Amino acid sequence: MIIRGGIVYDPANGIFGEEIDLCIDRGRIVEDAKGEEIDAHDLLVMAGGVDAHSHIAGAKVNAGRIMRPDDARLGMEQATAVCRPSTGYTVPNCYAIGYRYAHLGYTTAFEAATPILESRHTHEELEEIPIIDKGALTLFGSNWEVMQCVRENDLKKLAAYVAWGLRASKGYGVKIVNPGGGEAWGFGANVKGIYDPVPNFDVTPAEIMKSLAQVNESLRLPHSIHVHFNNLGKPGNYTTAIESLDLFKDIKPSRMRQVVHVAHMQFSAYGGTSWKDFKSEAPAIADYFNKNHFCTMDIGQILFGSATTMTADAPLEYGNAHLLHTKWSNHDIELEESSGVVPLVYLRKNPVNAIQWAIGMELALLTKDPWNVILTTDHPNGSPFVNYPEVVSLLMSKVKRQEELSNIHELASKRTTLTGIEREMDWCDIAIMTRAAPAKILGLEDKGHLGVGADADVAVYDLRPEEVDPSTQHDLVKKALAVAKYTIKGGVLASRDGEIMAAPVGRTFWVDASVAKEDEERMMEDLKEKFDRYYSIKLSNYMVQDAYVPNPVVIKAGALPVEEVAP
Ligand SMILES: [Zn+2]
Repeated sequence: MIIRGGIVYDPANGIFGEEIDLCIDRGRIVEDAKGEEIDAHDLLVMAGGVDAHSHIAGAKVNAGRIMRPDDARLGMEQATAVCRPSTGYTVPNCYAIGYRYAHLGYTTAFEAATPILESRHTHEELEEIPIIDKGALTLFGSNWEVMQCVRENDLKKLAAYVAWGLRASKGYGVKIVNPGGGEAWGFGANVKGIYDPVPNFDVTPAEIMKSLAQVNESLRLPHSIHVHFNNLGKPGNYTTAIESLDLFKDIKPSRMRQVVHVAHMQFSAYGGTSWKDFKSEAPAIADYFNKNHFCTMDIGQILFGSATTMTADAPLEYGNAHLLHTKWSNHDIELEESSGVVPLVYLRKNPVNAIQWAIGMELALLTKDPWNVILTTDHPNGSPFVNYPEVVSLLMSKVKRQEELSNIHELASKRTTLTGIEREMDWCDIAIMTRAAPAKILGLEDKGHLGVGADADVAVYDLRPEEVDPSTQHDLVKKALAVAKYTIKGGVLASRDGEIMAAPVGRTFWVDASVAKEDEERMMEDLKEKFDRYYSIKLSNYMVQDAYVPNPVVIKAGALPVEEVAP
């Protein structure tokens, strides 16, 4: 296949809006090819989008579906010769997730949180999502074995557990959510800050986070630790965010990437002491990211309208349910985590929601280097991913932001700096934030760019970047990004003008890290005891078998001595 004449934005390869023919053979970008030609003359061309943080598969997504029969009716589409039926808006069914990412020109999405115990379910759903490539981040932040290793200050045993946990869950990276809080929630409590000890374990969230970061680097995992901070969603929590970030300053990355990725930073950039004096501290956070390059973030933009919040931060969801007087699902995951689901609606005239909206914008616009701040809505916590074009058009247009500011609660102008921000992103910034940077942050070498050898994941949009001014014609930007002219996934034309043309099967990335045998043996002794005494299932039934990941990409990683990365 040859994609002819497009205006290509491929910032990872230093290409900023040049007319280039892209050649594809056997699922890869190549120097030269023959075959089907796609006419992309003068149209915007980028690599397929990469979503590094999205809740698309597993038990909590399914809990959201069960809780929201109202939502299921919102996105109904009939089956076609190629497609299975689609349902749902904030919690779409598996099929709709694949088709809708393809319509947007996205070809890769990573599930942001799966406990090991429930990973079989996560993979069952990932397998059912058509077209896109995917992976899942495994939860370690309130896990008993993790906390035991931290208490014993045995980082080698912890490395053995993380390696084993990734293999057991067929997971891609280390996710930490409200570290220690998942365990405290088993007793109806929470940890209050990063130095508040976890009940029964006598370790602090700070120790959990730092130890996992050290072990992550000693295992040379492709991705860094991926953290949802303590105190998320609470006024004044930006100090917790900065205190947490400081923990990782001296840890050496084992690969060319960050040492910590912060999930949905918008929910951790809050000032004030209560909802009454709630305000933005996004400038302080952006300033930190401008001065320090060991950390990256995704914004977790909220948009007005319906959302379904779902997180392993169970006490947060208890708080949400009581604050909003709405329905709530609560879940305990044995020795590993807790979680919750709460549907909600973000309202323009609600002062807190209006300020939250502005904070996401501030974080993206005030962080100077787009390689350090990537686009997410923390689907479906801030908004469903189908609304990414709205976020992009806002980032590219001050005019559009001012229009929205005049429609929403006035405190968004008074308690954030958004009104004074002149920056309008260009296509290069957008290509980085939605493709190149998420791929780099995840450590996916063949994604997010269009160099020779890259995966042939390409998006062509019905927009002429040399004619359209995104500042004033933001409606055209939003419309074009919502329905890609062509989405090519692994060399196959998957979506054209909003119609699914083919539904190739995506691949699932997971990481197989090796550790010293003696460390693994010591760790397995602990685990055997935990399974005998506490787990409801047997160790022999626990690991996700190969059959559940029929189309895998296994990335090998291996141990460095912990002393080399942990000062
Ligand atoms: Zn999330």
